[in-house]
Parts: sequence; structure tokens; C-alpha cells
Amino acid sequence: MAEVGSFADRVKQQADIVRVVGEYVRLKKTGKDFSGLCPFHQEKTPSFTVSPIKQIFYCFGCGKGGDVFNFVREMEKCDFPEALKIVAEKSGIALPARRERSPEEHRETQHRTLILEMHRAAQTFYTQQLASTPEGRVAQAYLEDRGLDKPAIEQFGIGYAPSGGDTLLRFLRAKYKDEKLLAESGLISRDQSGRLFDRFRRRITFPIANEGGKIVAFGCRALGDDTPKYLNSPETPIYSKSNVLYHLDRAKEALRRQDFAILVEGYMDAIAVARAGISNVVASCGTSLAEPQIKLLARFTKRVIVNYDPDSAGQAATERSVALLLEQDFEVKVLALPPIGDRKADPDLFIREKGAEEYLKLLKAAPPYVDYLIARARRMDMSTGEGKLRAVNFLLPYLQKIPNRLLRSEWATRIAQQLRVDEPVLRAELSKAAKERRSALKTQPELLGRLAKPVERRLIRMLADAEDFKIELARRLQEERLYEGMEAEKIIAALIAANLAPEPIPTVEVAGTLEERDRRLLFEILFEKVNNQTWREAESCLSTLRGIHLQRQFDAFAREQQVVKSDQTLAESLEQQARKDELLARLRAQARAQEVEEKIITKDEADPVQEQINKMIKDSLRRLG
Ligand SMILES: [Zn+2]
Repeated sequence: MAEVGSFADRVKQQADIVRVVGEYVRLKKTGKDFSGLCPFHQEKTPSFTVSPIKQIFYCFGCGKGGDVFNFVREMEKCDFPEALKIVAEKSGIALPARRERSPEEHRETQHRTLILEMHRAAQTFYTQQLASTPEGRVAQAYLEDRGLDKPAIEQFGIGYAPSGGDTLLRFLRAKYKDEKLLAESGLISRDQSGRLFDRFRRRITFPIANEGGKIVAFGCRALGDDTPKYLNSPETPIYSKSNVLYHLDRAKEALRRQDFAILVEGYMDAIAVARAGISNVVASCGTSLAEPQIKLLARFTKRVIVNYDPDSAGQAATERSVALLLEQDFEVKVLALPPIGDRKADPDLFIREKGAEEYLKLLKAAPPYVDYLIARARRMDMSTGEGKLRAVNFLLPYLQKIPNRLLRSEWATRIAQQLRVDEPVLRAELSKAAKERRSALKTQPELLGRLAKPVERRLIRMLADAEDFKIELARRLQEERLYEGMEAEKIIAALIAANLAPEPIPTVEVAGTLEERDRRLLFEILFEKVNNQTWREAESCLSTLRGIHLQRQFDAFAREQQVVKSDQTLAESLEQQARKDELLARLRAQARAQEVEEKIITKDEADPVQEQINKMIKDSLRRLG
């Protein structure tokens, strides 16, 4: 959050979003706003809008929106500090000196820096071992056998961890005395007696870099028959397995350019694919893809071709990954490589045997994940009804995850045809499953178009924009809690909280805290054309809300009265009468107030909901006598 008076706040005040965005997107002035072709999704007519007044952008097509920092972060695929720097530079604002940290933060940063240094040192050590020791030469021969020549070894920083047991330890100790830190680095392990030794021994080493290209871990393959075959760095202060994708640091450019990623299992696969000239490849480094890895990838592309190993572990991993990717709204294809002779082919083996061109051909023809899954289902026993049911049940969870209804329907037809099951039955199952999923899924694209009542939209605009009185309005709404139960309740509540916070929170930040559907609705409302906002209008909105509120109370009261209680005491009857009188008095007052308001609101601003409420109040009054 940009604290008032902070550097971020200053940059935000001084930067012009139209100028910054204009460096990436050709913008045309349309009324008060600017519009252009969205850089975040493919489109032919512009739905990407920038407001110089509000200093925000929003795409009515894909729903991306935010302030100048959000835009740069999305465009440059960088974090907030980096975006701040870029915006400051583009706006000619000098960067301040680094701020002081707390002693603890300082120590942690120092540890991380030292561990990073150790990894750099280890990398130098491993590559030297590979290049210039007898053991290393054996490893080189093995690598050559796997199709990795000198240039490849150099390009991917491949090295060798010798068998000695403490060779790296001695090398590192010359510079780093802190034993605790050495063990924390993950490069060195500690046995039960507390003695330190090299974690990786007699293994080929593959440096694993973070997104920024810094080595944060190693993945190592046994040279002989040692187990496990693959051994990686443990979790350390600089490395968390689920946050890193192997080769992402080198793939970034190609991912952006090609707008799709090839996802493979291991580093050997990633290297093989990249060496074949296809650099938009990343490896999950482990059989299962984790959600943070998917979110990381989503910053570069949302289209993936999964090309995992064809063994049963790889198949299970493929299915798990497909499910996770679909949940994050990815477009997923699956490449299952054909066996070579009687050997199941991973990308590494396939490219070595069949060549890059053949691989590329298959990659281009990779089917959407549903085809892959249907093929899998068809291999199940389909001779009995039970078997078919199993096959359908295997497919259903994936089908449910297709957000697009039309597409889902198309696939249902295909599944019915291919599995030879009764289509109406399948569809019934499918729609049942779709209903059950409604509560589980966070975003429901079908509901995105839902509109809030005009009075809610007016309130939202005022809470966001009406500098003169938005805090007062928030206070009043908070006091009376009139917005409760409304469609846009969450948006209004968030805006009230933001206005009443000790330091007011910008609307764009409020948007960031909302669920996707509410976030989009908020942006759309912010871009609506409006007349000048007045306190009068605010009061009229409050009055409308009071009317809705009263009506609801009255309805509840009326329902209550319909239930005749035989054992009702006199006291209870009297109390009921008193409540009725009170409600009536309030309804009358509301009706009078509303009539005054009606005269104030101009014709084009007339609110059908408000009119309806007036009518309901009048009806209620008539019925109650
Ligand atoms: Zn867009």
C-alpha cells in the first residue's frame, strides 16, 4: 500500500497513467477517457480503457484493471518495487536512498545473501569438478552419451559433485565459518552425531535458478546406480520447491512472445526441449505441479502444453496438473509422446532418438486435454455399464472445470459419442455436477454480467469519487447499515471501510481485495459516465435504501402476523400492535420523504427500483389502513 507521503505515493501522484500506458499501447482519446487495444488479451476492437481523471485502467474484455503500478507489473511481469522503479524512471522522479531495516530483517537478508553466495561458490566448484577431475571426466562421458556436449554443459551450467563426502564442505569452509549457516544452505547436511558432510555426492549437478536468474538450489542425478536417482536441494531460506519453475529465468522472453509454455517433468527434459530450439519450456522439477508454480507461470502465459513422462506416475501427474491448471483458468493441451520401439519416451529420449523436428511436429498437433482424457478413458474396460460409468466418472471432474458452457456442451457430445454412452443421461449427470460445483468455485463467469441496482451503483460511484462528502456518506451508511443484503453489499462495505480507515485507501486497492466478480463490477461502475455528484443525490440514495430496508422489515412483520398463535397473551398482542404502529409511522414518514426526493431527481436519473419501492410503501400503507 502506498502510505501517504511515501515515495510510492509521491510517484503515484506525479506519474501520468496515460503517458506510461501510452508507451505500451496506442491510445485514442474517447470523451474523457482513452481507449486502445488491450495488451493483455487478443482483440480487434478496443475495450481497454484508461481514465486520466481517476488514474486507472480497465479492460472490459478480459477484466484486467488497476492503477499505473498494476499496469506495469502486469506488462513487465515484475513485482511492486520493480514497477515502482520503472514508473518513477518513466516519470523522471529520482529514486530515494534505501530505507533502514529492522535488525532482524537485516540479519535475515544477510543470511539469504550469504546462502546465495554459497550457491554461486558451489556452482563454480561443481563446474570445475566436472571439467578437470578424473571423476568429472567419467561424468562428462555419461553426459555426452545423453547427448549433452560441451556447449550444452556450459549453457546450462551443468557440473559434478564428487564422491569424496566433504570436498565441497572443505571448499566452502575456507570462506564460510558459520556451521549453522552451512547446514541451512542445504548444500551441506548434518549426520546424527552432528558432523557435516556434502549433501550431493557422485552426482551430476543442475543449477536451479529463480525467476531472476539467481541460483537458489541444485537438482542432482546419480551418476551410477545410487538411490535416489534424483536428489534435489531441501527447502531453504532462499528456495521453496513449489515457488520455482526450472528454466523459467531463461524462458521468460519466449513465453511472452509465443504465449504458451511447454511443461515438462525434469531438468533433463527441459534442457532437451530448449536445446531443440524451443525455449518456452519449464520443468516442475518433481512429479506434481504446485499452485504457486502455476500462479508464477500465469504471469507469463495462460496456455500450457503438458508433456510429462508416459509412465503411470507421469500420467497421474499429468491428470493432477491438468486439474490444477484448469482451476487457474489455463488453456491446456496434453502431449503424450508415442513409444520408441518398446520404450516409453520422455521428451529427452524422444528428441534424442527422433530429432527436434519430429518433436515440434507432435507439439503442434498436441490435442486439448479433453481429447487426451477421453483417450485415457477409452482404455478402461468399456464392455460393461459399470465400466462405462467409471470412465464417465473419470472424465466428469475435468469437464466440470471448463468455465465456458458452450464448450462444455460440445465436449459432452463428444464424450457421449466416443464412449458410446447415452447422451441425455450424460448431460443430466453433467448438469447435476455443474450445480454442485457452484458453491465450490470462486469465480462464476456466467454471473459476471450481473448488475447491481442503480441506487447501489450511484452509491458506489459516490463512495469512490465524491471527494467532498464520501467520508460523511460512508459514516452514515455505516451507522445505519442500510446496504446489508444488497447485491453489491461487499463492494459497498469495502468502500465504506476504505473511506473510514485512518489513512483513506485508494479505490484501486479496494478493488484488489474483492472477489473477481465484484472487482469487475466495481471497475465497470467506475468507468460509467455520470453527472456531478451532490450531497442531495447521496441523501436521496440513503432515503431509497431506507425504503428498501423498511419494506423488508414490513414484509417480515406481515409474514409473522400470518402465523396465528392460539396461545398469544394480551401483552404479546399489545406489543405486536405497538410494533405495527411504529412501523406504520416510519413507513408514512418514508413515503413523505420519498415524495420530496422524487421532485429533486431529474428524469433521466429516475430509478425504477426507487419508483417501485415508493409504490410498495404506498400499497403497504393502504393495506394497513
Ligand atoms: Zn483485455
